[in-house]
Amino acid sequence: MKSTDGFFNQYGGKYVAEVLRRPLDELAEAFHFYMNDKVFLEELRIIQRDYIGRETPLYFAPTATKLLGGAQIYIKLEGLANTGAHKINNAIGQCLLAKKMGKTRIIAETGAGQHGLATAAACAKLGLECIVYMGEVDVRRQQPNVAAMELYGAKVCAVTAGSRTLKDAVNEAMRDWAANFENTHYVLGSALGPAPFPDIVREFQSVIGNEVKRQCEERSVKIGAMVACVGGGSNSIGFFSPFIDQKEPRLIGAEAGGIGNGVGENASRMTGDAARDGIMQGYKSRFLLDDDGQALPTRSISAGLDYCGIGPQLAALGKSGRIEFTAIRDEEALEAVKFFAKNEGILFALESAHAGAAAMKIAREIPKDQAVVINMSGRGDKDVFITSPVFRPEEWNQFLHAEIERLESNKDIHDAKIMTK
Ligand SMILES: *Cc1c(COP(=O)(O)O)cnc(C)c1O
Repeated sequence: MKSTDGFFNQYGGKYVAEVLRRPLDELAEAFHFYMNDKVFLEELRIIQRDYIGRETPLYFAPTATKLLGGAQIYIKLEGLANTGAHKINNAIGQCLLAKKMGKTRIIAETGAGQHGLATAAACAKLGLECIVYMGEVDVRRQQPNVAAMELYGAKVCAVTAGSRTLKDAVNEAMRDWAANFENTHYVLGSALGPAPFPDIVREFQSVIGNEVKRQCEERSVKIGAMVACVGGGSNSIGFFSPFIDQKEPRLIGAEAGGIGNGVGENASRMTGDAARDGIMQGYKSRFLLDDDGQALPTRSISAGLDYCGIGPQLAALGKSGRIEFTAIRDEEALEAVKFFAKNEGILFALESAHAGAAAMKIAREIPKDQAVVINMSGRGDKDVFITSPVFRPEEWNQFLHAEIERLESNKDIHDAKIMTK
């Protein structure tokens, strides 16, 4: 389901300063051209196969199915994609498109660092210069991702304006793009922002849903429900995409319920008390806003779901009732991480665990001969710094102290330097 003039019913659009009209129009035209170009699509398919590692498996989870006592539980292992999550699908797609358009310089915004990391990897693979804008606060608290981006050869620019977080990184990226679009493409990280980004990101992520559809058909699996977590909305819209125009299956989006229903306690743009229509950063959608229309603080244990807006197509499909939304609390997500790790040997990212938790809740509503398919958008290795202090507080504390001591004594680092000489 494509937008009509950039709109999905009442949401979407292109609310940008005049200087950004030209790059957006040029991008829309190139996207339309290359998505109908056999050579481009074949090149993309081969990169998806050999570099990303597609197709990703659709795993039947026998123990979870038995324990939950309802539908057959299937898990789309998107976290097995190179770099550990679905974001690479979009990053590779947009970077390849940019290269065809003759751009040599890529910019991206990032919050927790996952999109910056995927874009940095895509640029390394395709031989493009990469600059990632990241709020100064995020740079400080997400050092492991900053380190990885630099290994991939990207330059990470710390943004010192405003709240020094994701919102300000987006503004800075927009400013750079307006000044440099002759040679620069802006890789937006989720299915939001001004048109044509929501259509572009959905199409590059729809590889997930198309694979699920084929994998289920090949195995004669009847899908009763599909569940995905919703931050900006890229993994969910790509996962749902081939099923949207049908009445079935049920499509369920899991938002961050954080620690409660109150303002500032969650990131529930569809189900939360502070959710309302608004226009921000170039598009009209559902946002968490105060009475003056300013973005409210959000909260979630998963950095990737902690954003005040949602993609316009998801907002429209939520309003029309095609997609059901549910809020999953931090503690429910943590329980789901443990459940799937222990019973299936699969470590969900905290974001994806919101989808896992939602599936655990509805499994009994779906007949036993039908499937609930969960999109595991990412794997949980990246979350040990968040989950360990919760699951093993004392041991983790001791570990960190020992690490600091070791660093300060400097011995191992000194030895490692000699060895790499
Ligand atoms: C970024 C991220 C998300 C949330 O982003 P969407 O655009 O809503 O998909 C979900 N899962 C993982 C693993 C992520 O890194």
